[in-house]
Amino acid sequence: MSELPYSYEAPASQALFDRAAAVTPGGVNSPVRAFRAVGGTPRFMVSGSGPYLTDSDGREYVDLVCSWGPMILGHAHPEVIAAVQEAVARGTSFGTPGEGEVALAEEMTARIEPLEQVRLVSSGTEATMSAIRLARGFTQRTKVVKFAGCYHGHVDSLLASAGSGVATFALPDTPGVTGAQAGDTIVLPYNDLDAVHAAFAAHPGEIACVITEASPGNMGVVPPLPGFNQGLKDACAANGALYISDEVMTGFRTSRAGWYGVDGVRPDLMTFGKVMGGGFPAAAFGGRADVMAYLAPAGPVYQAGTLSGNPVATVAGLAQLRLLDDAAYEKVDAVSAQIRSLVTEALTKEGVAHTLQNASNMFSVFFTENPVRDYEDAKKQESFRFTAFFHSMLANGVYLPPSSFESWFVSTAHDERAVQRIADALPAAARAAAEATA
Ligand code: PLP
Repeated sequence: MSELPYSYEAPASQALFDRAAAVTPGGVNSPVRAFRAVGGTPRFMVSGSGPYLTDSDGREYVDLVCSWGPMILGHAHPEVIAAVQEAVARGTSFGTPGEGEVALAEEMTARIEPLEQVRLVSSGTEATMSAIRLARGFTQRTKVVKFAGCYHGHVDSLLASAGSGVATFALPDTPGVTGAQAGDTIVLPYNDLDAVHAAFAAHPGEIACVITEASPGNMGVVPPLPGFNQGLKDACAANGALYISDEVMTGFRTSRAGWYGVDGVRPDLMTFGKVMGGGFPAAAFGGRADVMAYLAPAGPVYQAGTLSGNPVATVAGLAQLRLLDDAAYEKVDAVSAQIRSLVTEALTKEGVAHTLQNASNMFSVFFTENPVRDYEDAKKQESFRFTAFFHSMLANGVYLPPSSFESWFVSTAHDERAVQRIADALPAAARAAAEATA
């Protein structure tokens, strides 16, 4: 450890974690933050600036998590902060309509052609939950198809992911989700159109919708095989079901029109979060106007929210989206490519079997030499190598997602200095991965 720039201990974070554990289950407000997959002390961050985070021990890290996607302009972007400060000074919540939410909806619909109407909510979970309810209300059907390894937030019916056989009725994956809630969910292997066709054949007239991550990032980055999303869309259209593309992670990140801007497959409904909130709780679902017309108060499907379209969150999201022009996406894509090649170079040099997969600027490293097309493939990787790699990077000032089943995220703020810090940290991390044992 002596060559490391920091001692590996994190006493201030540990003290906060101990305090947190007394008042919060597991010491965190979202499970993956607890470092359970990699062990050690989660870092309690106190500030962020550009590509850097600073923890409560005063250590600075190059951030490759970017708040799990939202911070595509880096932390505390001056123009976003200025817009937020101005908005906060005018009041933080009115419980009435306001211009900010109209402007944000206009910006979103202008970027994504099939997004004819949107409803704003406060989290990605709320967006997918509401989209599913709307799909069921519109089609008057109950069953939902999802894919193993795709995460759509902690919606009861969407937490079911056990059972990867064709058209298997899922068992609840977590206590608290009833058999009835899970029983209407059909979980299929990702990238398997035959399984989708078989499910439609087995449940004629029963499937309300197919929901899929536009390009999955929650089993690591596993892009759809060519034609997969179009095949889903076609199967839905042929069977009277809605095709829901979950763009909570990819939306306004993988291009100015999200994954739709990459593959052009036209969803019936879409869901958004993360980037569109500029670091605040703002999310949305939307799509075909005739489907959205079923939503209250225009239609019978109920959906509401005290803080939906919050004036500060919408201003932050709008400020961020307006800064995301073509040049910004070129920059994020370029820095992502640069970091990907540095990672591959370092791991190859140490003879570590790995596969690096990306969807535009989202990417992740799988510690296996085989391509990863679905969740079963992803689970075959040697995750113990990631643990060693992660801790070495952390000790050298690079903050990676604390799990091998997550996307890495970069921003326009990841400049040469930040990339150099990553490059400097990689050789030791690759060595640690090579030397790791199960
Ligand atoms: N959908 C996808 C694809 C996600 O990646 C996430 C969160 O990571 C969600 C939905 C849930 O969003 P939230 O955490 O805002 O509830």
